[in-house]
Amino acid sequence: MAPRVSRKWEVFQGRNKFCCDGRIMMAPHTGVFYVTLGLIVGTSTLCFVFDCPFLATNYTPAIPAFGGLLFIFVVSALLRTSFSDPGIIPRATRDEALDIERSIEVPNNANSPTYRPPPRTKEIQIKGQTVKLKYCFTCKIFRPPRASHCSVCDNCVERFDHHCPWVGNCVGKRNYRYFYLFIVSLACLCVFIFSCSITHLVLLTRDKKQFLDAIKESPGSIISAVICFFSVWSVLGLAGFHTYLTSTNQTTNEDIKGSFSKRRGQESFNPYSQGNYCTNCVFVLCGPVPPSLIDRRGEVSPEYSASIAHNADDVIIANRSYGTVRISQPTNGISQSASMGSGPSEIGGSTHNLVQQSMTSPSIHSINEILL
Ligand SMILES: [Zn+2]
Ligand SMILES: [Zn+2]
Repeated sequence: MAPRVSRKWEVFQGRNKFCCDGRIMMAPHTGVFYVTLGLIVGTSTLCFVFDCPFLATNYTPAIPAFGGLLFIFVVSALLRTSFSDPGIIPRATRDEALDIERSIEVPNNANSPTYRPPPRTKEIQIKGQTVKLKYCFTCKIFRPPRASHCSVCDNCVERFDHHCPWVGNCVGKRNYRYFYLFIVSLACLCVFIFSCSITHLVLLTRDKKQFLDAIKESPGSIISAVICFFSVWSVLGLAGFHTYLTSTNQTTNEDIKGSFSKRRGQESFNPYSQGNYCTNCVFVLCGPVPPSLIDRRGEVSPEYSASIAHNADDVIIANRSYGTVRISQPTNGISQSASMGSGPSEIGGSTHNLVQQSMTSPSIHSINEILL
């Protein structure tokens, strides 16, 4: 019998959960996602059982048909957001991490009592705007612009928007459009169900019935109406907020941090904007989806598992050595770090270093594709 081949999702270093042999991936905690799914399925079922037959016979069968299509759309968008890779950036392998460490090392005088740690940020220019690239100590990479480390899933995510417990996943570059479609269609579904149940109850009171009798006749209608009434405001607000973000090509993360708001005496603008509201929406919602970088169903080779094992050791060593006095410096680090300065003069150096690293590292190569 052939030995069982292990897949990369089985040795994945983040905290994500995988099922169906790595085809489905989610955040580590999925409890709230099942609440979301339960509320949508439950409320829609009440509407289809109690209100739709009445409205179909009294008005038109187009009402339940429209509701059914909307429900399928909402659930599909939710599952697509929840089960896909949001744009996780693979952690650096041992060699890549060493390469980065070497390239940022600053020469320190061996007799000096204070150790100067290497700079952990790089600055690049995008459309004349200075963008800081921060070093991630967990993933051991300089994060590409707009990426951030999700503390829940323990991964750096491209164009990180936020971690959403309601959908049970991070929202990032690869699933933002599905998340946006989900909340906009969910807002429509909420309004649809609320309108159907209220119309049904009001029509029942037409025949000289009390409102209380109408509720007794169709108890499901009042339950779905109440659930929709309380959830529609937050869903509508969220849909409006994300429409604003999409039309200005911003992420929730950037909006909260005020990344593009005016700084003291400095003009600041969004360098990622495509020009106007329309082109931004087209770019965010219809632009090409980059391929997943984590190759979660790929086979684990002995070299791959070796680089992962070493990487785990290095994290501990690097965290211990960072910020402490180091006596010896690698000789080859001095010539490289001489090109590193602070401020705008390092722009050329940092881009150069990233390009240099791309010669040897597949994951950093992909980051360069994002950068260039
Ligand atoms: Zn990270
Ligand atoms: Zn996350």
